[in-house]
Amino acid sequence: MAQGRGWEGAVLRLMRAKDFTLTVTGAEDVTPRFRRLHLTDGGLLAATAVHPTMWVRLWFDNAGKPHQRAFTLVDPDPAAGTFSLEFALHEGPAGDWARAARPGDTIEATVQGTGFEEPSPAPSHILAIGDPASLPAINSLLDALGTAPATVWFENAENAENTENAGNAESAEDAEGTAVGLPFRTDPARHEIRHVPRAELVERVRAELPALLAATPDPYVWIACDTRTTRTLSAYVRKELGVPRERTHALGYWRAS
Ligand SMILES: Cc1cc2nc3c(=O)[nH]c(=O)nc-3n(C[C@H](O)[C@H](O)[C@H](O)COP(=O)(O)OP(=O)(O)OC[C@H]3O[C@@H](n4cnc5c(N)ncnc54)[C@H](O)[C@@H]3O)c2cc1C
Repeated sequence: MAQGRGWEGAVLRLMRAKDFTLTVTGAEDVTPRFRRLHLTDGGLLAATAVHPTMWVRLWFDNAGKPHQRAFTLVDPDPAAGTFSLEFALHEGPAGDWARAARPGDTIEATVQGTGFEEPSPAPSHILAIGDPASLPAINSLLDALGTAPATVWFENAENAENTENAGNAESAEDAEGTAVGLPFRTDPARHEIRHVPRAELVERVRAELPALLAATPDPYVWIACDTRTTRTLSAYVRKELGVPRERTHALGYWRAS
């Protein structure tokens, strides 16, 4: 199997990436556009240390060609050798595979590149910006960072592109509506979710982030949107607002086409 992965597979082999076969044991349609799969890990968790926001590279088939995409581990249980994966569904080989996945199906996974640096000092306020693809990582991050309050700008108008509502999802109410049923593990007592339509995200963060940064001594800014938005926001936070690199984390989670 690993031989069929082209140059990406060859580079990962040189980097001593670890390969595993995952097996689906169950599936849940959390919402019509968000599907959770339960899997056994093929020895993955025993072989690699587990950390918050941990992700794996999965190898999907794309018309006979290897198609590698990253997904975040949900509820990894090293003792049981199990975890779940949550898929924000849209058109694409990973989504197609997840929609069709049934118990007994297998998928190859490679562990390479994932990591987590615990911010020190501990954040006095977490400022996170993400979307359904990074919701599993946001849940994991907030869980790992303990009792700190958080403000999350959650971009959620991706459904608009494929539904009759296309062009209408331009209000926060619409964005909040498309988030109904998504598995937020946030604690309303200390985590505030601000639902933002895709087109307004950068503008809203620019308008609202500076005051929150100014009001807290040790902020931590975490950004995981599509690559272009992530680049724009991380440049804004680091260069314009002067937040030190070690108090920020920014990683593009998907490429808009
Ligand atoms: C570290 C990391 C962890 C990630 N964890 C998760 C996770 O736990 N769950 C999850 O759902 N995703 C996660 N992602 C994002 C996921 O890898 C991408 O969305 C990936 O592109 C999906 O592959 P695909 O084959 O379905 O679509 P692709 O073939 O990559 O793209 C097909 C089309 O879909 C569009 N598209 C791709 N992703 C999205 C999206 N999220 N929203 C809207 N349109 C999209 C593309 O622009 C393109 O037009 C993670 C990414 C990273 C980098």
